[in-house]
Amino acid sequence: MRAEMKDETQKVVVNGNGHSGKLSHLLASQHRDYLLSPTGAQVKISNLEGKVVGLYFAANWYPPCRGFTQILVGIYEELKSSVPQFEIVYVSSDEELDAFNNFYGNMPWLAIPFSDLETKKSLTRKYDVEGIPCLIFLQADDRKEDATVGDGVELIYRYGVEAYPFSNERLEQLQKEDKVKRENQTLVNLLANHHRDYVFSHTHTGLKQVPVSCLVGKTIGLYFSAEWCVPCAKFTPKLISVYEKIKQELAEKGEEDFEVVLISSDRDQASFDSYYSSMPWLALPFGDPEIKNLVRHFNVQGIPWLVIIGPDGKTITLHGRSLINLYQENAYPFTNAKVKELEKQLEEEAKALPTMVFHQGHRHDLNLVSDGNGGGPFICCVCDEQGSSWAYQCLQCGYEVHPKCVRAVHHDHNVLVDPTTACL
Ligand SMILES: [Zn+2]
Ligand SMILES: [Zn+2]
Repeated sequence: MRAEMKDETQKVVVNGNGHSGKLSHLLASQHRDYLLSPTGAQVKISNLEGKVVGLYFAANWYPPCRGFTQILVGIYEELKSSVPQFEIVYVSSDEELDAFNNFYGNMPWLAIPFSDLETKKSLTRKYDVEGIPCLIFLQADDRKEDATVGDGVELIYRYGVEAYPFSNERLEQLQKEDKVKRENQTLVNLLANHHRDYVFSHTHTGLKQVPVSCLVGKTIGLYFSAEWCVPCAKFTPKLISVYEKIKQELAEKGEEDFEVVLISSDRDQASFDSYYSSMPWLALPFGDPEIKNLVRHFNVQGIPWLVIIGPDGKTITLHGRSLINLYQENAYPFTNAKVKELEKQLEEEAKALPTMVFHQGHRHDLNLVSDGNGGGPFICCVCDEQGSSWAYQCLQCGYEVHPKCVRAVHHDHNVLVDPTTACL
């Protein structure tokens, strides 16, 4: 969610050039050896020598910058109270002085004066700033050529104050910890972060906060979805119906063991609000930084995508969507053992199916195939959803449908099929 300046690549940029010598060379101009402070006073650039300095590239006109600035202010104030060797310098892309003054008015750190376009340009070039918000961290020991960390926004979102001193060494250490975290995955470290320990639920009066800790011990579906996504519009009602059936069955048994959490990639708050209002379950807040981490953590390659987390906080399956399509509410609790049992059941049922049918929506005979016996993963031409294991397949043109979607009719080769509905 950064404004693009060139193309949007979000990788850790380690600047090979380093910054040559003193901060003055970077931040001063011919006529200026100071920076602005929030009180309007001038602060000598030489005061920054020996500190960890974050160069903050942002602009008031881009909403994600406003959101990130708020977070950064919190981090800055927390760090400044304990670490004196730390400073941030605002490098603005604001278009007018009034906008700069307004935006900088909310920042507690230093800034390059708005009028100094030349320094701003040369910093953008030097650090290869491709999008905003961007945060480049310069280490106190600037003799180290590769000490610059160019992915400060990511670091702050992901790790908060723990990322201090924002060095490559610290980054490596945190990534190692991440790996361990992955291995010790829990619901709390998946869904909560430094700034938020709750998810939303609906009430009559609006959104209510539900502590993530209240979900621990349940089976949780993480539903990656968005209002603009066409396949989501088909899958969401199905998931709602399955969700309600599972909840009802559990309620009858006196258990409260299942929840779904919407992880939305909606593009604005209004779409999120309207989409989420159609759903009976929980949600992460719109635009939450954790969403990006979850997408990466679960390698979400397209939506709708349903990840199932077990009561122990570990991942049960990344393929909740297919399981819902294949088995509906019977898929609960989505475990390997349950899936094996369902496959066996399907196998038994398939024995009773005719080996060949003539289906209302297709002009050729369809053959019953199974996984490893001419079949495999497919998209059903009737319901457009994924399938695997058993299917009715046209050997001539590859047309495939779920056995449950077949509308068998008497074999009559004179029946005309509307070619526009034929799915090849
Ligand atoms: Zn189907
Ligand atoms: Zn055919």
